[in-house]
Amino acid sequence: MRVLITGGAGFIGSHLCERLLADGQQVICVDNFITGSQRNLGGPLRNSSFELIRHDISRPLEVTDPVDYVLHFASPASPPDYLRYPIQTMKVGSLGTLNALGIAKAKKAKFLLASTSEVYGDPQVHPQPEGYWGHVNPIGPRGVYDEAKRFSEALTMAYCREHEVDTRIVRIFNTFGPRMRKEDGRAIPNFITQALANEPVTVYGDGSQTRSFCYISDLVEGILQLMGREYHEPVNLGNPEEKSLLEMARLVIRLVGSSSQVVFKPLPVDDPRQRRPDITLAARLLKWQPMVPLEQGLSETIAWFR
Ligand code: NAD
Ligand code: UDP
Repeated sequence: MRVLITGGAGFIGSHLCERLLADGQQVICVDNFITGSQRNLGGPLRNSSFELIRHDISRPLEVTDPVDYVLHFASPASPPDYLRYPIQTMKVGSLGTLNALGIAKAKKAKFLLASTSEVYGDPQVHPQPEGYWGHVNPIGPRGVYDEAKRFSEALTMAYCREHEVDTRIVRIFNTFGPRMRKEDGRAIPNFITQALANEPVTVYGDGSQTRSFCYISDLVEGILQLMGREYHEPVNLGNPEEKSLLEMARLVIRLVGSSSQVVFKPLPVDDPRQRRPDITLAARLLKWQPMVPLEQGLSETIAWFR
């Protein structure tokens, strides 16, 4: 199978490239390196089944080779990244998704969209099942990401219904692991970087807001499973073990063996109060559940950051 992946030089994308190559697939990675890096592709670039195209997928891309599967992962994903690049984020979620779906349609390829738990916004239903329509502020600073992903989902369903493209949508909940950038700005890379330097660990707000963190290998496994199923509606993938951010900060400090103290900083606008995936559907459809306990995933990530 020849798989074209947009955003393949990013955190999740690079792990997918590696896994697909290890499974014997050919991989074409399309990335403009706005938040990704060629350093993430050290292994794939030595593999003759791998091709890298430097391109902004918000612009049309002509692909000459046949393609069997399009994985659309291109988008800034960390809140500081999408606040820094609001227009690029909206473009890649709209024009980029249109172009990626256009490739899938032209090549008669299957398509998978990387969507997000952010489509649920600051959720009023907890945990979040796929049937929940969400609670998003369209004009707040996070709206550029949330609404772009909601548009991407709507467009993907339209291509499925109108053009009969064989699509899938994965709603990814907070995922972490090696290859997150030190300066990525998300909670886990921040906490680990700060704890390793024995600097203050920054908790936003009072730290009572919750998230549920999934280790990268579990997410990749779930995505591979979903690729193989003909199911068009969104599927949540994430680890339902929910923790407050203050608990997370203290856990990272303990696992690093750091002398850091927690400091409290202002809570970003529209920061969701709580988030936990309902993974009943993934468990039934994909026979999938996360296998890596939080502390083990954190320890592996800390070792990589060291
Ligand atoms: P990342 O920033 O590490 O990777 C994103 C990649 O997309 C980067 O390599 C970047 O250069 C590339 N990119 C961005 N805009 C592009 C464009 N216009 N053209 C070509 N390439 C472009 O982020 P990540 O955490 O690996 O996230 C990957 C995908 O998964 C994103 O779509 C994100 O929304 C989704 N997601 C991630 C998480 C998570 O917890 N990591 C959660 C929910 C959804
Ligand atoms: N957060 C924090 N300190 C940091 C970075 C993030 O307390 O240094 C909080 C953030 O306000 C949010 C949670 O951690 O409540 C998760 O943030 P992240 O940026 O990792 O992802 P999000 O779930 O908000 O997309």
